Amino acid sequence: MGAYEILERLRVDDSTPQPPTAYRALEYLVENGLVHRLEKLNAYVACARPDACERAGFIVCKLCRTVAEIECKASEAGLLQAAAHSGFAAESSVMEVDGICADCQKSD
Ligand SMILES: [Zn+2]
Ligand SMILES: [Zn+2]
Repeated sequence: MGAYEILERLRVDDSTPQPPTAYRALEYLVENGLVHRLEKLNAYVACARPDACERAGFIVCKLCRTVAEIECKASEAGLLQAAAHSGFAAESSVMEVDGICADCQKSD
C-alpha cells in the first residue's frame, strides 16, 4: 500500500493529505507500531495486531504481491542482539521474506 492509500484507509485526517503531512503522519504511526514500513516494496502496511505486535515479519508473494504479517519474535530478537553485540545501536528491523503464497502455489 502506498502512503496515500493507507492514510485514506486509516482516516488520519479528514482533509486531503498533502505529502509532508502524509509522511509525518505515517512516521508517527510507524513509531507507534500501528503501521509497518516495508523497505523493499517502499510501502506501508497497517499492523495486523497493534496491541500485541513487537517484532513484525512479512511474507511477500512475488506473483500476486500479497503481503501478510507474521510473528518472528525469536529470530528478530537474535538479529537485534547480534547488532547490539557489534556495538551497533539498533532501533528496528523488519523481516521481509519473498516467495510464493499458498494460493499461487495451488493455481500454478
Ligand atoms: Zn505488526
Ligand atoms: Zn500469491
